[in-house]
Amino acid sequence: MNIDFNEIPTESDLWGQFAQDFMRNLGFNIDSPLLKLSDDSYEFCVSEQTSGKFNWVPFKWLVCCRHKSSTRLAVKESEESEAIERIIRNKVDGFIGFYSTSASSGLLLYLESLKAKGNVKDYKIIDSKFIESYLITPGFDLISSRYFPNYALGRQAIHIYQEKYLPICCEHCKKDLLETLYTSDNQGVVVRLRLRNADQQTPDIITKVYFACKGECDEKLQTKYCQNTSQSTASWSFISDIVIPSAYLERIVALINQISRDGVVYEPDALETEEYLIRALSQRTLRPPSAGELIRTKRMLINQ
Ligand SMILES: [Zn+2]
Repeated sequence: MNIDFNEIPTESDLWGQFAQDFMRNLGFNIDSPLLKLSDDSYEFCVSEQTSGKFNWVPFKWLVCCRHKSSTRLAVKESEESEAIERIIRNKVDGFIGFYSTSASSGLLLYLESLKAKGNVKDYKIIDSKFIESYLITPGFDLISSRYFPNYALGRQAIHIYQEKYLPICCEHCKKDLLETLYTSDNQGVVVRLRLRNADQQTPDIITKVYFACKGECDEKLQTKYCQNTSQSTASWSFISDIVIPSAYLERIVALINQISRDGVVYEPDALETEEYLIRALSQRTLRPPSAGELIRTKRMLINQ
């Protein structure tokens, strides 16, 4: 399961605090408090002991924290253009970029040139992949649950693998029930309206499938859609339930069985909503595909 770095809000010093805890867990000494810079990034100094034959020499690093996961953009060379001044001012040996995305190739070339010129003894980029690889290891669970509570609870982040993000909006108040799934006031449900025929031989008809907040929004929608019939019954599924991978799978299988075996008839719009729901839920239930797998999927669709 991938970590959603957006769980840490950008408008606070939490990313910096996370960086300090992460570095401490890696075994570094934290030598200075978090300092906010003019561009809203943060920095602090750490040190580690490097062993020689006769003594242990501390190696000091300047850690620059940039939290850009909401933009998905790599950190550019221009954003670290003052790195030399900061390295000199802090009297450190090395530079660490602690980023929630990655470093651009321009920035890597720039840091390499600083190293070649002797401005810095070494540099290291701790990017999202590096952080992720550590957060799943033993000893990092406390940090995980403190900064990424949804991840720690096994809650899947949203992954966009269609052309664009597919929301699941309440048909009444328009709130996106998928994005806000793990907030405390989320009561998102999928509602199916079924028209039962008195005649046992005639199959039921699913006349409408819609998404709503359970309670007031749903009641208003039921009144709207059930006004012409008293034989219509509603069934509810909580989105927080059907987003569980095994429940998601069972729901798809049940849908196939209903149509093929039980002869339940779907109105075209209702079936279209079911299809949309499967696609939208998959953004939280399936693992994110690699770029290569996405290309293969597209090829398969074309061949079909
Ligand atoms: Zn609503």
